[in-house]
Amino acid sequence: MSTPDTYTGNRGLLLEEPLTFETGDPALSAVDLPPVPEAASRLGGLAREGEIGLPGLSEPQVMRHYLRLSQKNYCIDTGFYPLGSCTMKHNPRLNEKMARLPGLGDLHPLQPVKTAQGALELIDACARWLKVLTGMPAVAMSPAAGAHGELTGLMTMRAALKDRGDHRKTVLVPESAHGTNPASAHFCGFKVDSIPADDRGRVDLAAFKDKLSDDVAGIMLTNPNTCGLFENDIIDIAEAVHGAGGYFYCDGANFNAIVGRVRPGDLGIDCMHLNLHKTFSTPHGGGGPGAGPVVLSERLAPYAPLPYVVHGPNGFDLVEHAGQTGQAGGDAKPFGRIKGFHGQFGVFVRALSYMMALGADGLRQVASDAVLNANYLMASLSDVLTPSFAGPCMHEVLFDDRFLKDTGVSTLDFAKAMIDEGYHPMTMYFPLVVHGALLMEPTETESKATLDEFIGSVRDLARRAHAGEAEAFHAAPVLTPRKRLDETLAARKPVLRWTPPELDQAAE
Ligand SMILES: *Cc1c(COP(=O)(O)O)cnc(C)c1O
Repeated sequence: MSTPDTYTGNRGLLLEEPLTFETGDPALSAVDLPPVPEAASRLGGLAREGEIGLPGLSEPQVMRHYLRLSQKNYCIDTGFYPLGSCTMKHNPRLNEKMARLPGLGDLHPLQPVKTAQGALELIDACARWLKVLTGMPAVAMSPAAGAHGELTGLMTMRAALKDRGDHRKTVLVPESAHGTNPASAHFCGFKVDSIPADDRGRVDLAAFKDKLSDDVAGIMLTNPNTCGLFENDIIDIAEAVHGAGGYFYCDGANFNAIVGRVRPGDLGIDCMHLNLHKTFSTPHGGGGPGAGPVVLSERLAPYAPLPYVVHGPNGFDLVEHAGQTGQAGGDAKPFGRIKGFHGQFGVFVRALSYMMALGADGLRQVASDAVLNANYLMASLSDVLTPSFAGPCMHEVLFDDRFLKDTGVSTLDFAKAMIDEGYHPMTMYFPLVVHGALLMEPTETESKATLDEFIGSVRDLARRAHAGEAEAFHAAPVLTPRKRLDETLAARKPVLRWTPPELDQAAE
């Protein structure tokens, strides 16, 4: 489809947006400042010699620049966002309102504890909800994201091993684990050994048992895994790893698939991070902030990082040093700190607001609806796409590219064509256990009407792929402000800074 050229380069009310360096004028400024008074140089002769080339912009220019850029951004508040392994769901605005209350939003982390009793009570209440929902006795609230929680859990495991004089070096990570798992284990100094998936998309139990030895510090299992499946041998896995003297780390980023229905503590898990920004509703993507609290079993509780909130006779207080009482009783032997201050307080406010608004029954329904929606997609698309594994699935559904065989259309082309249909594409080429993966996670907050429209659109694209329209797919997207990008060129010759035209010419 061709699009008419316009004089301005704009497309209707979707305006082109140059860099501020291109539109700026040193004569312009958005603020009126008084002239700088004469002062002795404090830079020891290193004063600026000339203009530094920052763009001069008026206030309307600044407003329009950033608003136009924001309008080019597709987000969950714009439309359906079926990205797998990410939980891009609607976040209730009530949580935002709570996080912005002046008594919560304006707190300073260095305020004396006695002036921040409400905030500590809030952290404590949030921690209590997480412990009850997971059936675990302790929680480290401070990690700032899921991957940071993985690191925290591994450091807790390492401290526990060291305390018993054990120097195990290997962490087992299934192929169906999230990509951050092996990265975290490696970063923490462990040797990563991969366990293959079986033909049901789950951990190959026999291969796992073969790898157990007295060098295995633990296993990191993602459950539900990145094939969108519940690891139904999980209790056997827990017993086997414990029998071999290792710990059981579970990646619980996708807890929204099981919250209110399964308690990880009952499955034999020793530590598990929860992504508050996924399951418990904080807007995420684009770099946070998130929060990745780690719940801990009794065996690992003493090694939890500092600080944590305790409730004593004089109100709420913080445990900031080793040697005080541990979270699950006994002496605390914290491995240290993982982050400045207490963690992402604003995210705790949102999570507690979300949990209290939904209640225990509402949270249970979250899991039911997340799983129902994913299975609705699976059932409605199974005759035109190729599901990788037999259902039912959990919160996300995995297809592979067998349905595109002999069409000349790849998973990437298919994803690009979805952009023209007005959708953020699903996750593609991940997980690696299947060829040309298409991983779709509808989440619990989408209506049947939204899913039906999406299903109609995916079915139509599949029909077009088989009707010999490969060339149109190769060109997609064509209805966006920018067409198909040359991703190879972008990776090989990234343009990371803007050079003024006069310098560019001088270089030539
Ligand atoms: C999102 C996710 C992570 C990483 O969480 P971040 O907050 O992005 O660091 C880890 N594991 C799984 C299964 C995830 O879905």
